[in-house]
Amino acid sequence: MFVYLRLLIKTKRTMGKLTYQEFKNQYLIQNYTDKKGNPKHTRFIKRYFYRFRNQLKEEFGPQLDLHYCSKPSCQFHNTYMFDGKAIIMELEHKNRITNDSRPENLESLCPLHHQQTLGYKNRKIDITEYVEYLKSLQV
Ligand SMILES: [Zn+2]
Repeated sequence: MFVYLRLLIKTKRTMGKLTYQEFKNQYLIQNYTDKKGNPKHTRFIKRYFYRFRNQLKEEFGPQLDLHYCSKPSCQFHNTYMFDGKAIIMELEHKNRITNDSRPENLESLCPLHHQQTLGYKNRKIDITEYVEYLKSLQV
């Protein structure tokens, strides 16, 4: 509990007084970069998705709600608990470009659904095909 409160205070301090509109204008853009102009992964701004959760939900629906997996059929569509502990949702980049932070390119997925997407960890073939390949390695 103490650690949680320290994290919360630190995070709120570093996030400043950014408004939802400023968040969208500065971060939810096609070519999100650091101060030097290098591409920067959207995961570095995940905390803002939690901060502006209500606004994002209202504007974009469950697609950008990081509390849950956005797949309606998923067991984590309405809960984040697994085996008695919480799990953290991940941001999928639909076009595989990890600094393309436009809302239409992003989707909140559970780690299982994220793992199944093409290009996850640079996998170039369908996951079922890949698992079949891995199984075929057995002598
Ligand atoms: Zn899921």
